[in-house]
Amino acid sequence: MDFKPYIRTIPDHPKKGIQFRDVTTLFGHPRAFRAAVDALVQPYAGVQVDKIAGIEARGFILGGAVAHQLSTGFVPVRKKGKLPWKVLAEEYDLEYGTDKIEIHVDAVKAGDHVVVVDDLIATGGTAFAAIKLLERAGAKVIGCCFLVDLPDLGGADKIRALGMEVTTLVA
Ligand code: 5GP
Repeated sequence: MDFKPYIRTIPDHPKKGIQFRDVTTLFGHPRAFRAAVDALVQPYAGVQVDKIAGIEARGFILGGAVAHQLSTGFVPVRKKGKLPWKVLAEEYDLEYGTDKIEIHVDAVKAGDHVVVVDDLIATGGTAFAAIKLLERAGAKVIGCCFLVDLPDLGGADKIRALGMEVTTLVA
């Protein structure tokens, strides 16, 4: 299935010059949403996956569906200050400044096989921070899944260079 027609591009959002890929239109389409989840789980047929780590916020929607399909647990990777228990935190660079993501200290067990899920990869800064966090918590990150890759920004290739499986559906 070609997923591109189901993703809307919003010019100048959230600021001038940014072409924002709006995946809510794909989430809202029953066949496209199911087909996207089916495509993202395909590389993991017969592979041990213990947890899906979904990145706030659109990675929760997609990651929850992927976790259900693979019968795994789910780990929310949240923006700073949202989780109620003790956290591990990782800072990452934005275009201007930095941000922080967090997981609960006990979100994964040592040796858990984890797949990271988000809606889109651009520079890879967010996904890299999530991988670092999960590895600090003792997990083995075996792959990452994204609906959209912005290949000019190189994030997906940087993660592939770590030897991880990276699945993307639209470039
Ligand atoms: P990166 O850290 O790879 O540079 O940026 C990816 C993160 O920013 C993801 O969490 C993603 O949700 C968000 N993001 C950046 N640009 C877009 C966009 O055009 N559309 C959507 N849906 N998310 C974006």
